[in-house]
Amino acid sequence: MGEFQEDPALINSVAAKTVAARRLLAEIAAEFAPATFANSLGAEDMVLTDLIVRETLDIEIFSLDTGRLPAETYDLMGRLRRHYGLTPNVYYPRHELVEAYAREHGINAFYESVELRKACCHARKVEPLQRALAGKRAWITGLRAEQAATRSGLPLREFDAANGLEKFNPLSDWTEREVWAYIHANGVPYNKLHDQGYPSIGCAPCTRAIGAGEHVRAGRWWWESADTKECGLHHSPAVGGASSRAEVGAADVTAAQGDGRRQSADGELHVNRV
Ligand code: SF4
Repeated sequence: MGEFQEDPALINSVAAKTVAARRLLAEIAAEFAPATFANSLGAEDMVLTDLIVRETLDIEIFSLDTGRLPAETYDLMGRLRRHYGLTPNVYYPRHELVEAYAREHGINAFYESVELRKACCHARKVEPLQRALAGKRAWITGLRAEQAATRSGLPLREFDAANGLEKFNPLSDWTEREVWAYIHANGVPYNKLHDQGYPSIGCAPCTRAIGAGEHVRAGRWWWESADTKECGLHHSPAVGGASSRAEVGAADVTAAQGDGRRQSADGELHVNRV
């Protein structure tokens, strides 16, 4: 907080980017309805949540509950409800997919191979994401270009061909310092794990704290090599190459084509006030 207040350049950049992000979100709400925001409950997504709620924009907000999230993430869901009056719109995995995975491979088989890890991510993240995006014209993520090499060149807007709708990344050019400056300046709730060495937070068994000098995403699937770290939630030729995939917080979105989009979007997320 103090660092933010004492850095005029940071104050100015956050102010300018906040205006730009707010304008883009308003355009999405006006021109791409129904639009939805995949709230991964990470720091960036808290910024977007704050912007959407403050402006009362007609944008749905949803999260994916994989069933393996840290307790601190569930705590944040509760604080969002109290702080903003938001009723969580949460998509859960289909129980038959999780049961089949556990029966065939074991509940923690994601440690055994990249293929089994991706299969778990598909059942717990990708398939629910497809249901969340069903019937939408656009979706919004909190991805930033500097988060990973696979996200360099991340555009503000791209067409998500795999899921068949527009995809917007309003914070693509934000730095980590700008994200935290916004959070502290506006009293935005955030995951307490961020204060414990977790810059990037996913499922509990697949996320660890990082040490000094480690990349911000080094704690995600730390047992894998860097070039396999895809959760399947994000897929865009525009981001880091033709096969790159990134992640949307608690919800990593995949490239799966989908009959999932034609399925009913049970559990649809909306910005509701209680
Ligand atoms: Fe499964 Fe880990 Fe992927 Fe979560 S991050 S869905 S626990 S493999």
